[in-house]
Amino acid sequence: MAEPVIGIDLGTTYSAVGIVEAGFPILLADEEGERLMPSVAWFGPGVVKVGRAALREMAEGRLVRSAKRQMGVRFGEAPGACLPVVRASEGGMAFRTAEGEVTPVEVSRVLLSELKRIAEFRLEQEVRRAVITVPAYFNNAQREATKQAGEEAGLEVLRLVAEPTAAALAYGMDKLAERSRVAVFDLGGGTFDVSILELREGVFEVLATGGDTRLGGDDIDSVVLNLVARKAGLEGPALEMEGVDRDRLVREAERVKCELSREESAIFRAPFYDGSRSLEEQVERVELEGGMASELATMRRICQEVLVDAGMEGAGVEAGVMVGGSSRLPVVQRLAGEVFKQEPDCSQHPDEAVAIGAAIQAGILAGTWREVLLLDVTPLSLGVETLGGLMNVLIPRNTTIPCKVGEMFTNARDGQDSMQVRVLQGERELARDNWELGKFDLPFRSAPRGKARVGLQLSLDEDGILEVLARDVEGGGPDVIVKIESAAVDVSEDAVEQMVEESVEHALEDMKARVFTEARLKAEELLGAVEVALAQLGAGLAGENREEIVAARLAVEEALAAGEANQLKGAVETLDKVTEGLAARMVEEALGALQSGGQTQI
Ligand code: AMP
Repeated sequence: MAEPVIGIDLGTTYSAVGIVEAGFPILLADEEGERLMPSVAWFGPGVVKVGRAALREMAEGRLVRSAKRQMGVRFGEAPGACLPVVRASEGGMAFRTAEGEVTPVEVSRVLLSELKRIAEFRLEQEVRRAVITVPAYFNNAQREATKQAGEEAGLEVLRLVAEPTAAALAYGMDKLAERSRVAVFDLGGGTFDVSILELREGVFEVLATGGDTRLGGDDIDSVVLNLVARKAGLEGPALEMEGVDRDRLVREAERVKCELSREESAIFRAPFYDGSRSLEEQVERVELEGGMASELATMRRICQEVLVDAGMEGAGVEAGVMVGGSSRLPVVQRLAGEVFKQEPDCSQHPDEAVAIGAAIQAGILAGTWREVLLLDVTPLSLGVETLGGLMNVLIPRNTTIPCKVGEMFTNARDGQDSMQVRVLQGERELARDNWELGKFDLPFRSAPRGKARVGLQLSLDEDGILEVLARDVEGGGPDVIVKIESAAVDVSEDAVEQMVEESVEHALEDMKARVFTEARLKAEELLGAVEVALAQLGAGLAGENREEIVAARLAVEEALAAGEANQLKGAVETLDKVTEGLAARMVEEALGALQSGGQTQI
């Protein structure tokens, strides 16, 4: 395997690492089979433990949680930390642990080293390159601090990706049309973020973002606890008293909250919570939802502000993607449904979506991620070569597959009894500038020019397999069916980009070439017919008209020789006009060649 690039979600409460393997993003589990690693580090005497191992340590004053909140934040501006903090170098801060001071960058370095280790353990090879996610609202200092932590962990940080962008990537570009907008609603344990993103040329761009760094599942645990206290006739402070294991109460409140996401009611149980008394209260889902009024109002206000910032009042987003552990709460999903005016999209694993998106971004950079966008629509136009070496598009670029398109063609020469069908792919007007996917000969019953009728049908199935069916409609005979495997959609993004760029670059000359070729074909046809008509009816023509026709014919011949598209087109139109009377008087057979039924000649 080429040198891997890993994707890391460095979360406030949990972190995870993933990679694209065999075209799919996966998260890598540690030795215990866990994909989510608690973002905690324990600084013991001469040892540092991370994740679950850190949580298993009992000694006080050594465990650092939620260090992400203090990343790149100046001393004094840092939000409440899990341990006492001190001023560190360059105006930053550090946690004071029993083992000494550690900065948030050092904590993140330790977490990232562990994630790197897990990846190396799973992949059985060294990992040196990574993509790391950061909240969309992270400022430059916070981003720099994250990058620094990655580098100190021995990782080259190829890119920092905004968390909502990662969530949107996990949701999938393949589900979206170009220029569509999605909202990512992320309610975690301690933070709330909403972002509106727009998919533009295969890349998500954050249009607006907002949130509250102090709003999350923890607040909802408090709502549950307060409800229980009130039901039990206990004032809030009663639970703050000496001897009360508050942590245990909060954990039970969290358990009840999670149960209420599935059930209509749940029982809060805390036997001997203060050493002697016990608590047992039934909590209803509706009670919890009622108690969350202020949190819900904040979420609603933030969503509306972000929609306004993105210039989206009234206009709808294509999807409201729900991520973060607390997005499992039904009342939160209902709220998102209301503000985004549609069913919220809960298709992603709320805790893993960001890491999956980071893995996808890493895969894009490593070249191991196959662009799904290209699978759902035709990346380039498909067509056949027609007379004069022109590209005749049957299935235009960006057509949703599966699709099926047919067109009738006719013969270019008298007595022709077969035609070569060249199947082409590309955006250029001339066949020779496009890619040939295949060619075959189609025999048909010999017919005068323009009289054969050949149907061609291109169909592209879900797997990108192109089938070409050719049929001699007039003459009968067996259908010719040619299958072209995968080439039709399995085109690298670079090749598509190059083809499209070239088509834009050469648009003018290509168009001229097409106009000239079409005019030339028409001119040749017309000149032949005029000659026949003049020979048959010329004697009966008024001298004036005859002179007009001769002059117009000369102009066409001159323009043909000059090779100038517009001049030729004009001359052909003039000749067509001045021979109108002549044409009307010609017997049908004589002008048969002029009336090939509007079908394209091949
Ligand atoms: P995150 O920070 O995204 O990992 O989210 C963690 C938060 O999600 C914690 O507050 C959890 O209590 C909360 N959470 C996890 N599962 C559920 C659930 N089923 N219902 C409500 N909240 C949940």
